[in-house]
Amino acid sequence: MKFGFDIDDTLINLREHAFHIYNKKLGKNIELDAFHALQKVEIHEPFGLSDEQGKEMWNSSLEEIYYTSCPPFPNAVETLQELAKQGHEIYYITARPKEHGERTKDWLKEQGFPVQDERFFYGMQDHEKIQIIKKLKLDYYFDDKPEVLNTLLNESLKIFVKDQSYNRHLTIPRILHWTDIKEIIHIDKQKVR
Ligand SMILES: [Mg+2]
Repeated sequence: MKFGFDIDDTLINLREHAFHIYNKKLGKNIELDAFHALQKVEIHEPFGLSDEQGKEMWNSSLEEIYYTSCPPFPNAVETLQELAKQGHEIYYITARPKEHGERTKDWLKEQGFPVQDERFFYGMQDHEKIQIIKKLKLDYYFDDKPEVLNTLLNESLKIFVKDQSYNRHLTIPRILHWTDIKEIIHIDKQKVR
């Protein structure tokens, strides 16, 4: 089977990592409750920043956000390793900007994710992910962003949403914990029989 994954906030806890960085850089101590209540992907509002200031903050912090110690979600690394070991193909499709693609790939490898160079795609816009996903003929795709998942609703692959505060309105099957995947594959196998 072919499994495709978004990276940020699907496999790794990037926004929360960035939230801590914002607190540090701005000399604030905004509680994580505010983070968990966010109804949008952007994290700047609890810090009292305008959209424009938030954008600037994000872009000027990008190096630190992307390449320091952002933790993978629990069992994300182990689950993907297990899938690869079972012979499944693992693809990564991230909208991170082109200039960060290769470094991101190396960073993912360092964290222990199973990455094959030719199965790593980056630098597209959210709405362009569908083109790659269709071309690859993925069986499964996992993402956190409503804007991405909504483009895939009519495709034949199985899509899943990684649970986040800003995507709870989606009725797509939901991944709360990465160990849930085992159950999904198990059920699918039984259906085939
Ligand atoms: Mg994402």
